[in-house]
Amino acid sequence: MDSKIYTLMNEQVQKEFYSAYLYLDMANYYADEGLDGFANWFHVQAQEEMAHAMLFREYLLFNGQKVTLLPIDAPKGEYAGHDVPLKEALKHEEFVTASIHNIYDAALNAKDFRAVEFLNWFVKEQGEEEKNSADLIKKYELFAGGKMGLYQLDAELGTRVYAPPSLVLD
Ligand code: MG
Repeated sequence: MDSKIYTLMNEQVQKEFYSAYLYLDMANYYADEGLDGFANWFHVQAQEEMAHAMLFREYLLFNGQKVTLLPIDAPKGEYAGHDVPLKEALKHEEFVTASIHNIYDAALNAKDFRAVEFLNWFVKEQGEEEKNSADLIKKYELFAGGKMGLYQLDAELGTRVYAPPSLVLD
């Protein structure tokens, strides 16, 4: 495997785990605020991110590479309002998209078509992640202005259920 692709994929394991940490931090914030539905939505998000980390780990191992686990920063744990994690989540997904695109670019340059094929799933996934985050901000801004709206949106977000990624390495 090309050394640049290796380095970026190994770092991506850390970035996906950091994403899980960040979303778990947001889930903790909402749970503390009594918004269990928002907490559930971000808990599911954290589970997805852990699955993403495992996919990069498995891809590296499958291709005979060593995986070196890197330190994960602690999220800040404090948010100034109920809308703040939603906006930070969208920004974070845009950051992850740029990171995936950067690996994709390296894979294209190295003509590593197996990596390209693997990364195609993540390119599509990031489109969905950004849309989900943007949709949640829109819903919040439209409906969560009053206490009843916030209560109903919280109830809706409480119904989200984790589904494992459709990508399976074998
Ligand atoms: Mg991810």
